[in-house]
Amino acid sequence: PAPGTPLLEVQDAEKRFQGLIAVNKVNFEIRAGEIVGLIGPNGAGKSTMFNLITGALRATSGQIRFAGLDVTRSAQREASRAGIARTFQHVKLRPRMSVLDNVALGAYQRTGASFLSSALRLDRAEEASARYEAWQQLERVGLADKAFEQAGNLALGQQRVLEIARALASDPVLLVLDEPAAGLRRQEKIALAELLRSLRAQHLTILLVEHDMELVMNLVDRIVVMDFGTKICEGLPADVRNDPRVQEAYLGG
Ligand code: ADP
Ligand code: MG
Repeated sequence: PAPGTPLLEVQDAEKRFQGLIAVNKVNFEIRAGEIVGLIGPNGAGKSTMFNLITGALRATSGQIRFAGLDVTRSAQREASRAGIARTFQHVKLRPRMSVLDNVALGAYQRTGASFLSSALRLDRAEEASARYEAWQQLERVGLADKAFEQAGNLALGQQRVLEIARALASDPVLLVLDEPAAGLRRQEKIALAELLRSLRAQHLTILLVEHDMELVMNLVDRIVVMDFGTKICEGLPADVRNDPRVQEAYLGG
């Protein structure tokens, strides 16, 4: 998609869990080439919104469109095939596998087959091409020198980068990250921000769901703020930072 055209359109998205309204008629869009931050205090509904976008949860009502396609009812695998890749709030790597093979798994997943079935049916050519692709993604994120280490031996910041490399191996158009900076040290956060900037420069579109205000403020093009399930504000980082509704949500929360 050409830069600036709407890529993800969230229209009146609503998610109820029994009586609780976790996401309440939320509207926003992400344009191709942007990094958008989705922020808000704990319990605001960020992860639920994230799960609606990535197909892990179905909206109770409303619509989510991706590249003009209605993905409201899409499961995670269909969303992934459409070009939406995600990472997890808690690192979900295979700790005993090599860094390279963890990324190669992401490349298999693009085919839509589950890992087990692909592992069983994998022929050598497929395996070689998945590894080759994985290697390229490791170079892209600056982890190629760790390719043959066990994933579980990496520092947390590197594991997060590895997660991103794995998501990139599915060749996404939109990368959606849930709290990638959680638990990272300052230097690791700086490195992560640097990586996300470089991905944007390569025309990847990114939605960053994040509690860490500083990371978001210094990185994203636009911010959407949620509180108690609703969107309370949206705009440029500098404007959002000074918005009394946002300050109140964060102090009150
Ligand atoms: P955030 O990520 O902003 O901290 P969440 O989306 O995780 O917020 O949660 C929003 C609200 O929805 C919270 O009140 C939470 O307890 C509730 N919630 C989230 N997931 C579920 C679920 N699976 N079942 C019931 N309530 C849920
Ligand atoms: Mg969350």
